[in-house]
Formats: sequence, structure tokens, C-alpha cells
Amino acid sequence: MQSEYVCSLPQLKELMAYWVKKLHLEAWDIKLEFGNAKDMVLDDEVVGGLTNMLPVEQQAQIKIITNEGWREIDAVFPQDMEVLLVHELLHLAWHPFMPDEDQKTAVMSWHRQLHSTAKLLVELKRGKCEK
Ligand SMILES: [Zn+2]
Repeated sequence: MQSEYVCSLPQLKELMAYWVKKLHLEAWDIKLEFGNAKDMVLDDEVVGGLTNMLPVEQQAQIKIITNEGWREIDAVFPQDMEVLLVHELLHLAWHPFMPDEDQKTAVMSWHRQLHSTAKLLVELKRGKCEK
């Protein structure tokens, strides 16, 4: 079953306001945008979310791929936008612990762990976790 959860930019901004509070990120200035496939390339691969941040200034730009963006690359599994957003916000929350860019395996595990944590948080919010 695919877990597709698509929303408009204003809806996603509302969700961001919710998660910014929950994750105690109120000190950050965050600009949220949608991106298409060509805006969302990291290490030659199209990704669902991207964050550029200035940690000292606590400013960040978060881009989340649109559903059309997934279609451009014939993605088999369009992703849940709220999960992608929470993943990117967790990058802000935990950036001091991110492994060095050249430690490829550690960086991959880091993104994977952020992703499963984001998924869990969204499932808990939606009341979808089993007892
Ligand atoms: Zn990541």
C-alpha cells in the first residue's frame, strides 16, 4: 500500500507551524517552498526534501517535492509530504549531531534514522500507531 499524503503549500505551512512548536524550533526563521524534480537534486539523485540552513543565524530554507515532481521522475512511491517536512525539521533540531559529509555510510544511516523518526511522529499524531 502506498502512503501518499499530498497537500497544498498553505496546508503544509500550517503543518509546519504545528511541528515547529512540537519540536521547539520557534527560534528559527524557516522559508518553506515546493520544488519540482530539477530543484530537488542531492548527490545526483532526486530527493523528497532539501534543507539549506545557517545554524548560527538559525535561518533555513526547506524545499519539499510536489506530486508533479514525483511524476516527472516516474516515482513508484510518492511520499507523504508531512513526513518529508518533519524529516527536514529534524535536520534543524539535530544538526549539531550530523556526521561529516565524507562519511557516506554514516550520513545515509543518519538520513534513514531521521526518516523513520519523522514517520513515527506523524503516525503518532494521526493516531495510527498500534498498541
Ligand atoms: Zn535527511
